[in-house]
Amino acid sequence: MNDRTTDKRSTFPLPLSSVTGPARKTVAPAPVATPQTATRNAARQQSAPPSMAAPSARAPGYAMAGAVPAHKMAAHMALPHERRQQDSQHERSGHDRRQHERGAVDRPDMMVSDAVRRAMVARVARQGVRDETVLAAMQAVPRHMFLEPAMSAQAYVDASLPIGHNQTISQPYIVARMIEAMHAGRPLARVLEIGTGCGYQAAVLSCVAQEVYSVERIRPLHELAKTNLRPLRIPNLRLHYGDGMLGLPQVAPFDGIILAAAGLEVPRALLEQLAIGARLVAPVGGQQQHLQRITRIGKAEWTSETLEACHFVPLRPGTV
Ligand code: SAH
Repeated sequence: MNDRTTDKRSTFPLPLSSVTGPARKTVAPAPVATPQTATRNAARQQSAPPSMAAPSARAPGYAMAGAVPAHKMAAHMALPHERRQQDSQHERSGHDRRQHERGAVDRPDMMVSDAVRRAMVARVARQGVRDETVLAAMQAVPRHMFLEPAMSAQAYVDASLPIGHNQTISQPYIVARMIEAMHAGRPLARVLEIGTGCGYQAAVLSCVAQEVYSVERIRPLHELAKTNLRPLRIPNLRLHYGDGMLGLPQVAPFDGIILAAAGLEVPRALLEQLAIGARLVAPVGGQQQHLQRITRIGKAEWTSETLEACHFVPLRPGTV
């Protein structure tokens, strides 16, 4: 137990009171992002001057810091539009090519560089995330590829943003914080995410765990995630359409589980699908939510810790 958490030991079912106790302030509290603020963030950022580094005509390298296993990250993190640009430059020359490059620079998705993402990662580290593997994963995944083109210029601000169907892509800090809390410095063979959304967190997880399964209950978002992830060619990530509250018993147990949507309690099926010693991290609550970390310490015994306040979209049963 450390000073950031409260620790409770209990047998199943975990009482709701185990998650509603006062959470202590973290070293650097992050702003609470909500689906409502996501739309506001989007509007505010739209009118603000772009905070991006100057666009680079050279395709940025996506070399990972050492902590991310190279075999997982391979060449797939090169951006498709950059490949397109490289390819077409072989075919174009002179004036034609200069026109093409100018056009590309005007596009928000071309205004992205390694440096912009590095600034995002530095901010996440300042907010208290220390896990080098997680920070390297955040550096590796091109977050702008998970947003609509009109929104991709805001991809590296610390905000949740709308992805359609009243859902949001989580803010970078909370993505990193949850993965860090689940990882806790141990190797992760098999991890489950509930709430794929646009697929961003799943891609980050794929840099931290050997095998990642992610479940989404809204079919168009499941399809969107597939579309977003396809060009990244991530071999160790499987997407499922279904009710994540049921988990994925056919591939359980998991060495870690992350919920990207908040329920009043953590579904029993998910607790049962944790390997012994594994951790589940989830936002829990209604209006008031806290991140909760649950560790399975025995066949019928779990401990729970309450981390910081947060605000997520609701966990809902069934599929649509
Ligand atoms: N992981 C995403 C966040 C998506 S928002 C990211 O990278 O930003 C949370 C998602 O959880 C929504 O897409 C919502 O549809 C989904 N969700 C809510 N309840 C669910 C359930 N029971 N099973 C699967 N997905 C669920």
